[in-house]
Amino acid sequence: MPEADELDIDLRSDTVTTPSDAMRDAAATAEVGDDVYRDDPSVNELERRAAEAVGTGAALYVPSGTMANQIAVHVHTDPGQELLLERESHIYRWELAGAAKLSGVQTRTIDAGERCVPTPDAVREGLVDEDLHRPGTGLLAVENTHNYRGGVAVPVDRIAAAASVARERDVPVHLDGARVFNAAVALGVDASELVDPVDSVTFCLSKGLGAPVGSILAGDEAFVEDARRVRKLFGGGMRQAGMIAAPALRALDNVDRLADDHANAERLATGLDALDGVDAPAPDTNIVVAHTEDAGIPAESLYAACKDAGVGCVEFDEYATRFTTHLDVDADEVDDAIDRIAGVVDELRA
Ligand SMILES: *Cc1c(COP(=O)(O)O)cnc(C)c1O
Repeated sequence: MPEADELDIDLRSDTVTTPSDAMRDAAATAEVGDDVYRDDPSVNELERRAAEAVGTGAALYVPSGTMANQIAVHVHTDPGQELLLERESHIYRWELAGAAKLSGVQTRTIDAGERCVPTPDAVREGLVDEDLHRPGTGLLAVENTHNYRGGVAVPVDRIAAAASVARERDVPVHLDGARVFNAAVALGVDASELVDPVDSVTFCLSKGLGAPVGSILAGDEAFVEDARRVRKLFGGGMRQAGMIAAPALRALDNVDRLADDHANAERLATGLDALDGVDAPAPDTNIVVAHTEDAGIPAESLYAACKDAGVGCVEFDEYATRFTTHLDVDADEVDDAIDRIAGVVDELRA
């Protein structure tokens, strides 16, 4: 990963935003207490508002989205069970085999095709009933927006259809909604509608919403009570966490402006797709994936040359590179990025 200060336009991720003055003020003046004793008023307020935002009975503030997902896996499953999830999902690809290491579960993957939404049939096929020889499925996990497929916003009926197959077999469903508010804004629905068909949800405060630190794990009260114990087990019990929860509360006000990030991503995709040999499909949300196989440019080369040109991005696959818009880049910077990337592509193609 490059150093941020080498990058004029940092499109590596929506995690790179730095806290606004209002967030810094909120941190400086936060009312705090020991949150392990539930004494931190700022954390309590954040958890109350977070639960309200996704329409669940309760919510828990945790250090990261990864921890939120791993706590959910641990609460919902017993060691030796199976975790059923989509093959390009974050929990499977990017969480260091945490489900195996932290919860002792075996993963079974669903190939859900281009848009990475498991179909009811695929879920049905993937579910395993416990018997003398087989461990049984403990949890189905789904993702919205889908990161690896370029921020795909999955409509509620697709999630509901997959979830109902699992729940009919008494298998709970977890939604990795790291960017669930991006999905909600793109689909024009309330986030609570996207969360309604599942038993628990992760969302990140430190991505598009712009908080410096933290994620939320939400579900009903009994689930969150269990999750609180597992958070402690995983070393995530924090003391005067109001210092980071108070700015995170401000981040919950940034939901509607995610539409700006989506418009900027569309602008970027249009600009990149116009380049010879570059395929950048119109994004649903704030993640643009540029495919450069036709130009004969491996992602590794594109990434390195973009970095030299002051544009931050992430290698996704051999010929796929990810660019993510966020609240610290505006439309002019997107245009500047397009110009710089166009120059890079011209040079590499030659
Ligand atoms: C970023 C992300 C996570 C993990 O969040 P961290 O805070 O980086 O640990 C989980 N799932 C998805 C889909 C993500 O994009």
